[in-house]
Amino acid sequence: MTAKSPSAAAVVVLSGGQDSALCLALAVKKHGADRVAAITFEYGQRHAVETKFARRLARRFKIAAHKVVRLGFYSSITSSALMSPAGKIEREKGAKCPTTVVEGRNAFFLLAAGVWAKSLGAKELYIGVSQTDFSGYPDCRADFIRAQGRAMRLALDWPLKIVTPFMHRTKAQEWALADSLGLLDVIMHETVTCYNGIPGAGCGKCPACILRARGLKEYLGKSRSSH
Ligand code: ZN
Repeated sequence: MTAKSPSAAAVVVLSGGQDSALCLALAVKKHGADRVAAITFEYGQRHAVETKFARRLARRFKIAAHKVVRLGFYSSITSSALMSPAGKIEREKGAKCPTTVVEGRNAFFLLAAGVWAKSLGAKELYIGVSQTDFSGYPDCRADFIRAQGRAMRLALDWPLKIVTPFMHRTKAQEWALADSLGLLDVIMHETVTCYNGIPGAGCGKCPACILRARGLKEYLGKSRSSH
C-alpha cells in the first residue's frame, strides 16, 4: 500500500507515564502538534487508569490524532504481575527481570504503531524505553530497538525511524529535561507511572515509583546545588 498524502510526521507510543509524556512533548516541539499522532495500548494491564491519563495528555498537547488500541489477546498468550490484580511485584531469585515484565510487549506496540504510522505518512516513531535504568526488560534494549526498526522497515517497505530519546538518559536527566521544557508540573501530576495505577508520585513502593522518586530527588539536589 502506498501512503496517502501525509497527515502526521510522527507517531508516539503514549502509555500515560512520564517517559511517554516527554516523548510526546519532544515530538510536538519538533514537528508541531498538528503533525503528531499518539497511540495507546490496552493489553490487560492492571493499571488501566493509564488510558485516562494518555487521553488527557493527548488533549493537553492538542495533537492531530490519538488512538487507543486493545490488544485483547495478550493475557491468553502470557502472564505478568502487571496484568494480574493479585500479581506480586518482585524479582524472583535468579530471575533476569521482575515479575512485571510483559513478554514481547514493545515488539507488538512498535509493530502496530508502525503500521499506523505508515498509513498516516509518518516516518518517526517515538517510544520512551530506556536502557540506563534498565530493569531487565529485554525489549527495552538498544539492540532490540535497532533490530525491530530494521525488521519493520523491511516488513512495511517504509523508511520508518524508531526514536528513543531516553535510551541512554537517567531518570534524573529526564526530570531535567521536563524542567527545561517547562513541564515539571505536568510530569509530576498529570502522568501515571506507578505499577499500582496511582497517579503523580504514586504508591511510593513499587519499582516504578522508587525509580521515579530517586531520579527526582537526584535532579532536585543537583539543581539546588547549581543555583
Ligand atoms: Zn507505585
